[in-house]
Amino acid sequence: MAYKFIDNYREKGARKKLVELLRNRGIGDEAVLKAIGKVPRHFFFDETFWNQAYKDIAFPIGDGQTISQPYTVAYQSELLHIRKGDKVLEIGTGSGYQTCILLELGAKVVTIERQENIFNRTIQVLPGMGYKPKFFCGDGSKGIAEEAPYDKIIVTAGAPFVPEILLKQLKVGGILVIPVGDAQAQKMVTVIRVSETDFEKIVLDTFRFVPLVGDQAW
Ligand code: SAM
Repeated sequence: MAYKFIDNYREKGARKKLVELLRNRGIGDEAVLKAIGKVPRHFFFDETFWNQAYKDIAFPIGDGQTISQPYTVAYQSELLHIRKGDKVLEIGTGSGYQTCILLELGAKVVTIERQENIFNRTIQVLPGMGYKPKFFCGDGSKGIAEEAPYDKIIVTAGAPFVPEILLKQLKVGGILVIPVGDAQAQKMVTVIRVSETDFEKIVLDTFRFVPLVGDQAW
């Protein structure tokens, strides 16, 4: 598996350049930039494609899915305002790259992936790299009630609406970050639970994600 590969000077240098590129694109959270600078993204690629690993692009990981673009990972991570020890639910584990960034930020991560092939690969790769989230396989559009409440929830696939059930699993003061839109484009949305009954919604920039598929999704 990829995690046996070495993190050599070429990849380390490319990672530094990626951090500077993200800084220039507007990512200002130093903790997020430090995490991007630490996680070896090429470990998620077949060696043939290592030259693609530190470009600011999404890349196919098989089964019709992609490893997210570094800018998107940094953007969503920044919106979460992770504090050490936060319990974070990630919906759409995919390659696990975003999971590693959240762990580097000091979060306790619960992550769920609906596609069994991807899930089976990622549960091997991440522990091999020393990253240990709590993994689940299934439909994350309903959240994971038995692990709730969460300080933060991040959805890494495009949803048609904000699932109410996810809002119920947030702590007061908690933040949900979710791309919402149609199949072509989604707006990044953050929802802050300001009290037991009140939520504040902020609509941000446009992105393009693979669809969130499930009971409270497409
Ligand atoms: N952030 C990930 C990374 O860094 O590699 C990429 C995530 S990929 C863009 C979105 C993932 O969400 C896919 O692996 C897809 O199978 C998964 N997904 C879609 N709908 C889901 C659902 N209802 N529950 C859990 N995972 C889902």
